[in-house]
Amino acid sequence: MSAKTGEAGPGARIAAVEAFVLVGDKDYVAGAGLRVATGAATARPRRTLAEIGDLHICGYPPQAQTCLVKLTADDGTVGWGEAHAPLGPRATKAVVEDVLGPILLGADPLAIDLLWERMYGSMRLRGHSTGYQLEAISGVDIALWDLAGKLLGVPIYRLLGGPYRVELPAYASGIPGATIAERVAAARGFIDAGYTAMKLSIGRGDIDSDLATAAAVAAAIQGEADLLIDAHGAYTAENALYVGRRLQDLGVYWLEDPLTPEDVDGYVHLTAALEMAIAAGETECNRWQFAERLARRAVDVILPDICRAGGISEGRRIATVASLHATKWAAHVSMGSSVHVAAAAHLAAASANFLIFEFSSTPNPIGEGLLTAPLHPEGGFLRVPDGPGLGIAFDEERLRVHIAG
Ligand SMILES: [Mg+2]
Repeated sequence: MSAKTGEAGPGARIAAVEAFVLVGDKDYVAGAGLRVATGAATARPRRTLAEIGDLHICGYPPQAQTCLVKLTADDGTVGWGEAHAPLGPRATKAVVEDVLGPILLGADPLAIDLLWERMYGSMRLRGHSTGYQLEAISGVDIALWDLAGKLLGVPIYRLLGGPYRVELPAYASGIPGATIAERVAAARGFIDAGYTAMKLSIGRGDIDSDLATAAAVAAAIQGEADLLIDAHGAYTAENALYVGRRLQDLGVYWLEDPLTPEDVDGYVHLTAALEMAIAAGETECNRWQFAERLARRAVDVILPDICRAGGISEGRRIATVASLHATKWAAHVSMGSSVHVAAAAHLAAASANFLIFEFSSTPNPIGEGLLTAPLHPEGGFLRVPDGPGLGIAFDEERLRVHIAG
């Protein structure tokens, strides 16, 4: 038995491994700092976020940024991937090039599973099984699938054994507006655009205000679209149950991330106490993390982000674990490039237990505008690209404008 598996046989070899920091506006990189969103705590003890305060709130960059991965085969064929990198994308770039690069150079690009295990194993016993390491692996994995599809001349969803569907139901993520009236108008606009589901963000202020907004939007779209609610891990146990019961009465389809992600017991309790679906999982990464939550019935719908959770390969394994528990997954797709959208779309097209696709309603300077052809939902459905690999192509000139390093 050869110890050099993955390094024998005919065909292309990986000749170059590169990663790029992609930003909306390169000027900000040198100057502007991190913006930390804060919860607006009030003096009212029961219906505010005072118990948790700012501890759970994510840091956000001043604008969209991500890390692209480019693999080049020795015949010149290129595969693109994306590693989710909302903060510190230069760290992700370093992991791709310095940690994963030596594993990949000279290897057979079709040996995707083997290379995934090698990349994961490279830092596993040191505890690096999520975070920047797995986000970097995600980017490389997606680039490997893109490269394989291009080398073989078929779209990724066919390599994965699909499609179950090529028109993916999508929801509008984020209902913008400074007032309830503006949010109701935005929700009606999504219905006019063909969406049959949309997501409202709550949990960063007064609970009564959040519930009033949810009630108004729910009434405005009742019978025409499902309302999803994202609480961003904001609540204590008692507040989550309080809010959940009222959202349930409004007919809300799912309540996303009501609690801090580490509180698995809390999720088990809440999921049992509410008939409404509890959705979570953008925080979870590898299949083991999802397996624990699924086996304990801590969640009704999981939300893996394949640019964070190990790419298309691990995303498929996570979907399989979910299928053991009759659970569906919805694609978490936050602000990044269209590589993220396309990669999630291919997995969704080829997955039996896919539910719905997230598409951000926020204008995105590093989104589809960098492609040669648009990639967004039409009439509430996203059509999976049909070309080889990811089936998308960058306009190299427009891409170059946004590469910061
Ligand atoms: Mg979310």
